[in-house]
Amino acid sequence: MPCAMAIWRVYLLPLLLLVLLRAFTSLPTQAAARGGADPSSGTDDGKHGSFSRNLLQDKPEITEEMTRGYMSNSELEIAVQDFGRRCANVSRVYSIGKSVNGSPLWVVEISDKPGKREAEPAFKFIGNVHGDEPVGREVLMQLAYWLCDNYLKDPLATLIVENTHLHILPTMNPDGFALRRRGNANNIDLNRDFPDQFFPINDDINYRQPETRAIMSWIKQEHFTASAALHGGALVANYPWDGSRDKRKQYYGCPDDKAFRYMASVYSQSHYNMSLSKEFRGGITNGALWYPIYGGMQDWNYIHGGCFELTLEISDVKWPKASELLVIWKQNKMSMLNLVASLVKVCFQCSASHD
Ligand SMILES: [Zn+2]
Repeated sequence: MPCAMAIWRVYLLPLLLLVLLRAFTSLPTQAAARGGADPSSGTDDGKHGSFSRNLLQDKPEITEEMTRGYMSNSELEIAVQDFGRRCANVSRVYSIGKSVNGSPLWVVEISDKPGKREAEPAFKFIGNVHGDEPVGREVLMQLAYWLCDNYLKDPLATLIVENTHLHILPTMNPDGFALRRRGNANNIDLNRDFPDQFFPINDDINYRQPETRAIMSWIKQEHFTASAALHGGALVANYPWDGSRDKRKQYYGCPDDKAFRYMASVYSQSHYNMSLSKEFRGGITNGALWYPIYGGMQDWNYIHGGCFELTLEISDVKWPKASELLVIWKQNKMSMLNLVASLVKVCFQCSASHD
């Protein structure tokens, strides 16, 4: 994709684009959602470093009290369909497949020409990869509504709607959410279920989960320029590679490392306090440096989809009180908008350079 491949050329521009919404406090980071383990425990816990089908222990029981105020799967489905009706002029709703237990994987596409092929970058947000990390699915619906409500009123909303195709999958793992656990209905960690560049054993199609297969087909079909998967349990923007060849915990950058660091910085610097992290310099990290994982979605996107994907940890707490969700949305709002909009600005550069 010309736009994607051109990102690195303009990575020095980012500071002009960033909206700095900084706070004066930094929250402590906790166990990682990307892997679900304590990153301070070393390279791996005997599970990360091996193959993706190893299961991670679920965290302490999720109580009814913790989930109060969060949308159930059926409420989310209703919200998606309502959105499609209310914002029909700038959206379409479609499903990319079904979960193990038969829940449709609903996507909202937002664009002034939804469903049409255009020479514009396509971006995707994926939430709730891990069933016990529900903040992303809530925040993504807030993002969709904000764009719909502010199109032709707010310049950034208008820029995104008119110059990108934004696809939002609020939940990749509805079964895991319903079961209040990390894995899907087969108790497989979906962020270990993708083909891996270093571990061919993960290529066995017979073990691929339906949710994973749906994402893989989707990426082949839509040709996304960039994307972000939302997780919870830490506060950092994570970029490839996620795994290292020798399984050691080390900085392991991909060929577009500068472009990825730029993208991750757009997110962290636009966030309320992500960039002030005491654990992660600038609020960003290379995945393998934090702790290597294998079979992750992020690296597969880049290698096989030509799609620049980040893994975003957007909340230290996996299940904050529902009353805090609106605050978390506001803390992430400019990050999400600037990340998508940065592609548009890059593409303006593309066309200028071709003149
Ligand atoms: Zn996660």
